[in-house]
Amino acid sequence: MTKTTQVLRAASAWTGRAGGILAAPEIHVTAGRIAWVGRQGQRPLPEGAQVVDLGSRHFLPGFIDAHLHLWGLDLADATGLWTWPLPYRAMRAAADMRRLLESGITAVRCMGGPLGPVLAKAVREGHVAGPHVVAAGEFICSRAGTWDHAIWPRDWVDQLGMFADGIDECRKRVRERIREGADLIKIGGSVGEHTDTLRQWGNDPAKLRLSYSDGEVAVLVEEAHRNGLPVATHAIGEAAVRQALEAGVDSIEHGHGIGEETARMLAGSGAALVPTLSLPALRAKSAPPPVAAHWQRHRDVQIASLQLALKHGARIVAGTDFVGPPFTPLGPDAMEMELLAEAGMSAEQALIAGTSGAAALLGLETGALEPGLSADILALDGDPLARIGAVREVAFVMKSGVVYREPPA
Ligand SMILES: [Zn+2]
Repeated sequence: MTKTTQVLRAASAWTGRAGGILAAPEIHVTAGRIAWVGRQGQRPLPEGAQVVDLGSRHFLPGFIDAHLHLWGLDLADATGLWTWPLPYRAMRAAADMRRLLESGITAVRCMGGPLGPVLAKAVREGHVAGPHVVAAGEFICSRAGTWDHAIWPRDWVDQLGMFADGIDECRKRVRERIREGADLIKIGGSVGEHTDTLRQWGNDPAKLRLSYSDGEVAVLVEEAHRNGLPVATHAIGEAAVRQALEAGVDSIEHGHGIGEETARMLAGSGAALVPTLSLPALRAKSAPPPVAAHWQRHRDVQIASLQLALKHGARIVAGTDFVGPPFTPLGPDAMEMELLAEAGMSAEQALIAGTSGAAALLGLETGALEPGLSADILALDGDPLARIGAVREVAFVMKSGVVYREPPA
């Protein structure tokens, strides 16, 4: 961060808001924040200003991935989950965060895992370079619930500290997360069949069972909200999405396998839907055949449910559910916006889902090119409003006024 004013220029800008297009834009950045946005030549240059001209490129707010997992694992060798010490995983996660930043992701929500809160703190204090991190800490679910995979050794799963059964344990787990520095609470709301050893999601997205009783979910949400923490629920299928909405959660994660009435209820609730299209899209292509077919089934249902949610005007936020290499490497996360557009959103709606819409859900002062917000600014080679695939053509990345990527000279 520097005290001198940085002055950024390019051919055009999209501000992060509907209709927010500027030709020949100029952005002034002071002390890590956006100080002014306007047209080139409209204002005299501040004294000692440092001008960065990005030529024919297009400015956008930094992208936000509202659903990923900073686990620091190599998923080709899942035994790392048991055998790799957490400090080693944290260092690998730091490298993942650097990659995210360089590819234009300037804020993320870490949606379950032990490292999130400390990574958030390390970035905030400037020890490592990474996106702003909003972290859930470890998942909360019931025994035999969302992440209690029967193929995992029971003692090992127990020591993760994610189980909460019954009202008292639910309250206690939320309080533990608060002590650990979580920014939000992540609940496992739906669970697949344990006979399905491939994926916890089970084979029929519409028929997953509930992890929790209504009373347990109500207590989880009440305790989190009383402490000022939002709640996100992993909810697939009609029953889980309804239960979560009735309890007043702030976002529905995945959220597919729903019908017309639930889509209407979702839109009316004001809760955000984070459909996570990227993970099934990648796994349907890369997984071995029986597993790939499973992901494809979820992908088809996801798209149908998203279209219902859009029809009723639900708030959609971009999130990938990426976990790490080699199957879901952290970095190409902007692809979620391409997939949202492919599924029926306009390019601008998809971009809002990955910028200002996501910032509102994360509670961060970013997501738009507006004075007072964190100077999280990208320049792309192509114009993503004309061609959404340009979200992968990131030539310049600034986060909090610090430049992490520059176009070749
Ligand atoms: Zn996830």
